[in-house]
Amino acid sequence: MPTTPAEADIRQITVLSGGMGGARFCQGLLHGIRTGSLPGVAAGATVTVVANTADDLWVHGLKVCPDLDTVMYTLGDGIDPGRGWGRREETWSVKTELAEYGVEPTWFGLGDRDIATHLVRTQMLEAGYPLSAVTEALCRRWLSPTHGDALRLLPMTDDRVETHVAIADPQSASGRRVVHFQEYWVRLRAEVPAEQLVFVGLDAAAPAPGVLDAIAGADLVLLPPSNPVVSVGTILGVPGLRQAVRATAAPVVGLSPIVGGTHVRGMAQQMLDSIGVEVSAGAVGRHYGARSGGGVLDGWLVDTVDADQVPTVEAAGLAARAVPLMMTDHDATAAMAAAAIDLVRE
Ligand code: GDP
Ligand code: CA
Repeated sequence: MPTTPAEADIRQITVLSGGMGGARFCQGLLHGIRTGSLPGVAAGATVTVVANTADDLWVHGLKVCPDLDTVMYTLGDGIDPGRGWGRREETWSVKTELAEYGVEPTWFGLGDRDIATHLVRTQMLEAGYPLSAVTEALCRRWLSPTHGDALRLLPMTDDRVETHVAIADPQSASGRRVVHFQEYWVRLRAEVPAEQLVFVGLDAAAPAPGVLDAIAGADLVLLPPSNPVVSVGTILGVPGLRQAVRATAAPVVGLSPIVGGTHVRGMAQQMLDSIGVEVSAGAVGRHYGARSGGGVLDGWLVDTVDADQVPTVEAAGLAARAVPLMMTDHDATAAMAAAAIDLVRE
């Protein structure tokens, strides 16, 4: 049912996002706001994206923030659409030159254009600016010209947090080896089981400035189809953040990144295996849990192919529905956002 302007009471939407899945979802959400296709959402509604920073790494002396950059480049129309990360029309001279020197790591792809972002970030961090201030400065180039004040990107924390993955290594005395998440994902292609995940620094991290307010002051909080373990899981792991989501007056709705028993892209399956959560849309919804039962969600959307799981999600105290959840284009993604809102407006 179309909303009259008087009923358009959603003015501030906060999204807890990883990289590619979250960024694409936000693109559709912004498209939905622009085209007026989201029920109850005011024409000038603002979006705050709180992005995961537990994938961050230092490489060749540069601070790289993969999820922040994927969101920033995607929403700023600078992303390479084929790869889904990094800059479009990228060249790789620096990477080639570094390889000629035999400098490790050779597996991490730093493009020439992308390096400019990491240089600016690293310089600012070394001058003493927190990551949130650096991100704001970078977004002045990428987001302000098109989105103005309607879109804000915040790191989940200014503190250093790194996801490490323990994998089997018969050569080591302990039978195990620990690698940075990026090495697990980029070099090892998530092809070996992740025996354990360690979120270094997460327990001692504080939410970045603006994050708790963005959750408390939101009219709607969305968990996009991001990785529930190493994207949304780490965001919720920042001390105080889960409590803020539990306490907000806004409805909280999530969309499943698992469709038909596997992830659409990425390695959510391996990450869920490593924490012992069944790889199904219903199980991920139950893993987040209902706010009424100590969890973080009021509603959970699964894909139409997973419609049989709606009752198990409802039994866990959540509003649930099955709708198409493939982000094939902006309209399809905006329709997902509309369905998420519909679910909790009834
Ligand atoms: P990353 O940091 O780049 O891994 O990105 P995110 O954590 O934000 O998102 C990764 C998740 O997005 C994966 O678990 C995918 O299954 C999910 N995903 C990607 N594309 C789609 C899609 O079109 N539909 C749904 N439902 N999930 C998707
Ligand atoms: Ca990520």
